[in-house]
Amino acid sequence: MGTDLSALCQSMVAIPSVSHDEEKIADFVASHLAGIASLDLLRIGNNIVARSSFGRSSRVVVAGHLDTVPPDDNQVLRVENRRIYGLGSADMKAGLAVMLGLAELVESFLVDLTLVFYVCEEVASVFSGLLEIEHADPELLQSDAAVLMEPTSNRIEAGCQGTMRIRVGLAGKRAHTARPWAGVNAIHRLGDLINRIAHAELDNPIVDGLQFREAMQVVGVSGGIANNVVPDLASVTVNYRFAPNKGIDAAFQSVKSLLADLVDRDRGDDIVLEEGVLGASPNLGDPFIMKLLAATNKMPEAKLGWTDAAFFSSRGIPATNFGPGNPLLAHSRDEFVELSEIEAAFGIMKRALGS
Ligand SMILES: [Zn+2]
Repeated sequence: MGTDLSALCQSMVAIPSVSHDEEKIADFVASHLAGIASLDLLRIGNNIVARSSFGRSSRVVVAGHLDTVPPDDNQVLRVENRRIYGLGSADMKAGLAVMLGLAELVESFLVDLTLVFYVCEEVASVFSGLLEIEHADPELLQSDAAVLMEPTSNRIEAGCQGTMRIRVGLAGKRAHTARPWAGVNAIHRLGDLINRIAHAELDNPIVDGLQFREAMQVVGVSGGIANNVVPDLASVTVNYRFAPNKGIDAAFQSVKSLLADLVDRDRGDDIVLEEGVLGASPNLGDPFIMKLLAATNKMPEAKLGWTDAAFFSSRGIPATNFGPGNPLLAHSRDEFVELSEIEAAFGIMKRALGS
């Protein structure tokens, strides 16, 4: 007892750890855990896995990423009015501090605990430390439930939405701009397509009692040949955030249906799914997640962004998001976390783990 969570969080905010540069913070975490005899400590690259093996009837993974997004003039640690300011304070070094605090109490819990500190959550998922750990030994991530200690203002943000990237290409016919009637302007054809996406009525399904809100945005556009040429090709990139009750095929199909009359394959148009990842169900019926939910004493909400809850969920492990820090402050210049939130998150996790 008596772990100074605030000091731990401050020490970690003071260590820069932008994605791909997590060695120093991994050193800090490893040295803090090294003194705890009841944890098996493993380092895989700059990922740290610490596991108890008391033979308890169930095992819970508590996971947090070590990396931050790049600084926005907010790299310096500052403590003011019982708040810790600085890059990574809320997302998610406050959560990491709670994890280090839990490590010291591991003998008192009713479950076996696996603490996972991993790299590269804030960049493309191919770099994720969870994949590195899984590649080294998939057994290390095996568990009955998983908690991602992302900032959620100490409430359960359940499941997460899936996300996909789609490219829609529209064809036209080249001509001189002085005689446009001889051609078809592919960029002009984008107008209706972009309008359709901008005003799409998307699904807001209730899954496990929680309302998810889908979103679709055009996030890229390209086209154009030269100042005096009617362009024969134009394309948009679309990001679709879809509810976790849809698979990737069903989600892609709903985009194709939305745009069906505007995309004409006979003319040379195409619509391509470039990347798609599934969401995660809320799993509010899972016994551990129910216990965590009761300990928060707050109504759960649906997680709208994609999180690594989906990583565990896609491997058959019920997973949820819970942690200190306001999610709206993540990735913002004024990022901070309240000291009281860190203490409260610690108390909730201790109750959920059965101490
Ligand atoms: Zn995060």
